[in-house]
Amino acid sequence: MLLWFRNDIRIHDNPALAYFLEQQQASETAKAIFFVSEKQWLAHDWSAIKIDFIKRHVNALAEQLLALNIVLEVVHCDDFAAQIEYLKNYCHQHSVSEVVANKEIEFNENQRDKSCLEQGVPLRMFESDVIVKKGSVLNKSGEMYKVFTPYKRAWLTYVKQYGFSYLGKPRPLTEKELNVNNSPKLPKPLTCSGASDAWPLAAEVEQHVIPQFYQEKVASYGEKRDFPAIKATSGLSPYLAIGAISPRYLLQLYIQRFPDILVASDSPEFTWLNELIWREFYRNLVFHQQDLSKHKCFNPKYHNVKWPNSPELFQAWCEGKTGYPLVDAAMRQLNQTGWMHNRLRMVVASFLTKHLLIDWRWGEKYFMQQLIDGDLAANNGGWQWAASTGCDAQPYFRVFNPIRQSERFDPKGEFIRKYLPELAELPDKEIHFPHIYLAKNNLKNYWPAIVDHKQARLAALDFYR
Ligand SMILES: Cc1cc2nc3c(=O)[nH]c(=O)nc-3n(C[C@H](O)[C@H](O)[C@H](O)COP(=O)(O)OP(=O)(O)OC[C@H]3O[C@@H](n4cnc5c(N)ncnc54)[C@H](O)[C@@H]3O)c2cc1C
Repeated sequence: MLLWFRNDIRIHDNPALAYFLEQQQASETAKAIFFVSEKQWLAHDWSAIKIDFIKRHVNALAEQLLALNIVLEVVHCDDFAAQIEYLKNYCHQHSVSEVVANKEIEFNENQRDKSCLEQGVPLRMFESDVIVKKGSVLNKSGEMYKVFTPYKRAWLTYVKQYGFSYLGKPRPLTEKELNVNNSPKLPKPLTCSGASDAWPLAAEVEQHVIPQFYQEKVASYGEKRDFPAIKATSGLSPYLAIGAISPRYLLQLYIQRFPDILVASDSPEFTWLNELIWREFYRNLVFHQQDLSKHKCFNPKYHNVKWPNSPELFQAWCEGKTGYPLVDAAMRQLNQTGWMHNRLRMVVASFLTKHLLIDWRWGEKYFMQQLIDGDLAANNGGWQWAASTGCDAQPYFRVFNPIRQSERFDPKGEFIRKYLPELAELPDKEIHFPHIYLAKNNLKNYWPAIVDHKQARLAALDFYR
């Protein structure tokens, strides 16, 4: 038997691992595998910071597995085709009866798994990435919901009725069980670049960050989560994106702390659970509509839109040189840290697609190439929501005003000042759109606005109509 880790880099609440352990003799050293497929990862636009984050978690996983008498072999394979070839040969040479893994949702990953099965790799798959099994929450016609709120209601009903499984952590073996003299050695760790060092490993987050967030921050999450200068959100997206933390564990712990949460949808704490349900919604969309992995608009009405796509405007957006301070500060946060606050993701995505009339796919790709939490389902869902091409999306005539957004969600310009030090000395009132003030004071330390908000809004309405 062989255990194959993919987008589930954890031992905590890992269904494939739990099954594997049930089947194995604890006294025999077992083998697990993880493929480093940099060429494939780059083809999927994974960022350098995400790759570093994965490698650090793979190194930690190897240590945790050793305590379960499992040796993790890290194999370098360029792409999915090479992974299949490796598995075919390995299974043949070692007469492997089962290769155990957790499913992934994306199209190429699914195709790889299908090819494995077709070519005789005895793959047995479980599901580790969602709380409620994908495909279980359907509307009366047996289809996936197209609107979030009824999906959420049905999701809650489902969880109240059937619960969800949570497997906990496997028990590490004792020294006696491990047979110290014979115990396997840790493989050579993967070399990490250090790019993701600001993010602690999942084990530390489970121990300190999550309990603290549940205890101190969720009650005010709804009130504060839209203000990028405040650290009011959980910061868990990178861990969920690579499967280093289980969403079922998050809910299990949440229910322990707030036992009525599933029926308390008007409580302040529910707002955070709502986000985990959005995550499930988007994962189900990709699961049901595989075209979303292939850059298709959710709404077919938009398939053949001819976006003007100015490369110069796109470049200015990427570099944070639009002349709209909130947009520029947000893009600098992304470029400097590999993460961006949710409110700002909505603002910059709206700005790119509506003010600059650039195809949402350009923004989606750029985000994937920069984000530590790059995740096809959430990223695609977010971009298509902002571009109004998606499922339960923003109506096309809603165009975020980047100045108004700045005044509302960064009223004192604290966030802007952090990422645009050139504007640090400006009065609060002027910082959201400083051009008149700068001209009056003969200051030239900021970019001119690349588009005029009012004109761009009218052009967007016209274009979308
Ligand atoms: C244009 C755009 C692109 C995005 N790209 C990604 C992406 O690549 N990866 C990603 O994980 N999220 C993405 N999001 C969703 C959201 O911005 C991040 O999940 C969130 O900012 C992460 O911060 P947090 O962990 O502190 O979240 P919290 O506010 O603490 O929320 C808890 C968890 O819920 C999930 N979640 C929260 N908001 C959303 C949402 N709108 N959609 C789906 N899941 C959500 C995340 O897993 C998050 O960790 C995107 C949103 C937009 C508008």
